[in-house]
Amino acid sequence: MTMTEANISIRQEEQEILNVVHNFAETVMRPVGIELDKLSDPSEAISQSSPLWHVFDKYSELGIDMFELANSGLPPNRVAMLNAMISEELGWGDSGLAISLEVSIFPKALAMLSGDSELIEQFGTGHEVGCWAITEPDHGSDIIYFGGQLKDMPGKPNCIAKKSGDFLEINGQKAAWVSNGTIAKNAALFCAVDMGDGISGMGGILVDLTQTGVSRGAPLDKIGQRALNQGEIFFENVRVPIKNMVISPELGTFGSDIGLSMANAGMGATFVGVSRAAFEFAVSYAKERIQKGVPIIEHQSVKSRLFKMYQKLESARYLARQAVLNNGMGAPDLKMSIASKVTSTQSAFEVASEAIQIYGGNGLAKAYPVEKLMRDARASMIEDGCNEVLGILAAEKF
Ligand SMILES: Cc1cc2nc3c(=O)[nH]c(=O)nc-3n(C[C@H](O)[C@H](O)[C@H](O)COP(=O)(O)OP(=O)(O)OC[C@H]3O[C@@H](n4cnc5c(N)ncnc54)[C@H](O)[C@@H]3O)c2cc1C
Repeated sequence: MTMTEANISIRQEEQEILNVVHNFAETVMRPVGIELDKLSDPSEAISQSSPLWHVFDKYSELGIDMFELANSGLPPNRVAMLNAMISEELGWGDSGLAISLEVSIFPKALAMLSGDSELIEQFGTGHEVGCWAITEPDHGSDIIYFGGQLKDMPGKPNCIAKKSGDFLEINGQKAAWVSNGTIAKNAALFCAVDMGDGISGMGGILVDLTQTGVSRGAPLDKIGQRALNQGEIFFENVRVPIKNMVISPELGTFGSDIGLSMANAGMGATFVGVSRAAFEFAVSYAKERIQKGVPIIEHQSVKSRLFKMYQKLESARYLARQAVLNNGMGAPDLKMSIASKVTSTQSAFEVASEAIQIYGGNGLAKAYPVEKLMRDARASMIEDGCNEVLGILAAEKF
């Protein structure tokens, strides 16, 4: 894959798709994201009357998830590029909602990977809310780090799927940090598997979360991405057919590497959108705000600050497109997905912080848009793996 491929020009029909997504990001996601961010109780964000459901409904109507685009007749490299650009648009609208929409597809992706018509029918056809349940109360970075080699992880897993006849019986819990944890209908559950002779590694299992034995924690209250629902999922003797285990422990780190590569590349593209939003707000404010008799953009230090923001945004964007392209072309490269996620989230945090500086005191005020962007970006540096732990994992692949 070359950087030239990551820089392909956009055709008219693709631009039309992007225009539709941009309009959705601007008119639906952004206002709802701001509204949900202001709620003091995260339970209100998932109440029946919450505008969150409108976001899910409108997104389904667009018909632009990665599988729908894959069936659009466009070649895979163009589908991948569109996916990267769409994630950027969604992140530009509201990163918390973007992650909620994007992570929803994980059970569908696992079902498609299985190639099993029944699993595809059950988990791969609708637009139900989904989640990727992997981290645990006692194992956050550990799960990211040890991945498929869970048997080497210090301490006991909090969630275990144990073979019982033709079924897996799941007991335990996943962390309060599972995105869509309290609202998901289906889970791509990644947990320790015991096929009868002890824990052999991690499996990727499709679970219908509406079945008996599944319960949820309270929605998590947090600093940023407040529109993104998160919460614990508990399992008590939850039985699923063995064939629901699409990724088996024998595959070693393969399954966790693929999941993390998809998630990190998606994060990379999404948080380019946050940098872009902060950069755009900063440029337009700098052109309006007058100090010493001129718009502040006329002051050299403000110009220089804006250029550094632009530099970070563009660097993150090209890396993000390449990482998404690798995944889309069937050649996932976990190192590059991690490099993209770490670069993009770090850049989004720095660019949003610089935007606050350009806004001066107003940048700190809730009435202006940039402080929320910084809070949203701050969460992203821990989301889907702490950036420093991801860096160590990537370096182990050298
Ligand atoms: C917004 C958001 C969304 C998320 N979405 C999901 C989701 O959809 N599904 C899901 O399952 N989880 C999700 N998570 C959980 C996320 O993956 C974990 O929070 C993350 O992996 C870190 O785990 P932890 O919070 O337990 O921190 P810990 O692992 O306890 O880490 C604490 C500190 O110790 C450091 N540290 C830990 N281990 C090492 C090591 N080996 N070497 C060096 N330093 C180390 C870390 O860098 C960090 O600074 C989400 C988290 C956030 C914030």
